[in-house]
Amino acid sequence: MNDFNMIDIESIVKNVVKELTGNGSVEASSANPIMNIEKKIIGFANTNMSSEGELGVFEDMNDAIEHAWIAEQEYRKFGLDKRTQILEAFKAEVRKNVEEISRRTFEETGMGRYEDKVLKNKLALDKTPGVEDLEAGVTTGDGGLTLYEMSPFGVIGAIAPSTNPTETIINNGLSMLAAGNTVIFSPHPGAKDVSVFIVQLINKAIESINGPKNLIVTVRKPSIESTNIMLSHPKVTMICATGGPGIVKIALSSGKKAIGAGAGNPPVVVDETADIEKAAIDIIDGCSFDNNLPCICEKEVIVVDKVADYLKTCMSKYCAVEITDKNLIKQLENLVLTEKGTVNKKFVGKNADYIMRQLGINIDPSIRVVFAEVDRNHPFAVEELMMPILPVIRVKNVDEAIELGVELEHGNRHTAIMHSKHIDNLSKFAKAVQTTIFVKNAPSYAGIGYGAEGHGTFTIAGPTGEGLTSAKTFTRKRRCVMVDNFSIK
Ligand code: NAD
Repeated sequence: MNDFNMIDIESIVKNVVKELTGNGSVEASSANPIMNIEKKIIGFANTNMSSEGELGVFEDMNDAIEHAWIAEQEYRKFGLDKRTQILEAFKAEVRKNVEEISRRTFEETGMGRYEDKVLKNKLALDKTPGVEDLEAGVTTGDGGLTLYEMSPFGVIGAIAPSTNPTETIINNGLSMLAAGNTVIFSPHPGAKDVSVFIVQLINKAIESINGPKNLIVTVRKPSIESTNIMLSHPKVTMICATGGPGIVKIALSSGKKAIGAGAGNPPVVVDETADIEKAAIDIIDGCSFDNNLPCICEKEVIVVDKVADYLKTCMSKYCAVEITDKNLIKQLENLVLTEKGTVNKKFVGKNADYIMRQLGINIDPSIRVVFAEVDRNHPFAVEELMMPILPVIRVKNVDEAIELGVELEHGNRHTAIMHSKHIDNLSKFAKAVQTTIFVKNAPSYAGIGYGAEGHGTFTIAGPTGEGLTSAKTFTRKRRCVMVDNFSIK
């Protein structure tokens, strides 16, 4: 029965073609359905299956961009209600897995504290605004009505740091989707697996409510090369870089609209009017949050002489230990800094007791911070250490404290903290330091909405000025004009 020879096959094909085209010519026009089917079959056969991605994860950056671009064409047709449904499904799925995500991040990066990562991921879920952030504006008058609205940029390339990998994907992902964009994430290679995990969870959630595929995509093996492809690809219309000064500079040189959220070195100033017991607790809580990984964390304390000893006593009573031996401070310096004076990445985000154990000193694991009094030029104060080692610098008075705080912030315009009850002193430091976040009498994390008012973010754009990013940051402002009508004043 199945024993066809070539002539039989040729004759069957000719008959089918005749049926479909009415003339029996296989060389018919490009409208010929057989030709089109054949083209499709050839196209499919030539396509590497992995180029279709697996729940938003691609082997190749070009494929990831292409699919994010296709998704954006589809997403454009969606209204705000549908966007909100997508954001809610995204949040629900990530919330269900927040412990797993935090555990995987901790294990893969080897940095920070599991329980603080749970808090950070929940903060990103709870405090990232949605579509309500996209406020329209209007001008009306004799000339009619002019409307200002916020439209998406299109496809955004987002670079995420190793220190907050999943928090950045949650926070940027929600903000960028709320604004109507699609996103390609370029994670740090040191956090690639957990980034793949969360991107797949998000895609699973969106697909479960019949949302478009590939609104958020990434590559399985991120590299400098794959990031460079993203930075220069014509279909990527905006770049958002969250990381150190190197990547921010690269992003700003991309020739595209770029948002740069760079390094910080937040000083905390304490004057003689502060509630010193509370200041000590707030400083240790803020400094030790996820072992000092967040860019907003207290990185150096500047305290006026009059209250310096009491502040140190209070810090020592609360989960912190002071080291006073000059040789030990030097040994610690040699351990956590390289010969070039840069930060030794092996100790970034490690527990205080782990770091001290490398010097043969056992401290209780409940100690969250090791602090030492140093001079103003000490590398502990100058470098962004991102570990729970806190330099304390004693100064004569509040003016000297403010001047030094400005110097050690390095013009990053990132974050500064002050403990004081003197409104003039608080205003003086805030004006002088010009940081995006200025926290008064609280731990630094109040500045990103934890235990305080205001929305949360993990992308604080100091260098490019957008500040604490949210959906509206990722939009273009457009004007729509109606002349002579619709003003009913
Ligand atoms: P990092 O600069 O080493 O890496 C950040 C991202 O940039 C990673 O995805 C990395 O792969 C990529 N990258 C770095 N150099 C690159 C290059 N030459 N080409 C292509 N990609 C490159 O920073 P990190 O250690 O992951 O994160 C910590 C830094 O990020 C700190 O300086 C911290 O202050 C800063 N940070 C800032 C914010 C903010 O909102 N301002 C938030 C989190 C972290």
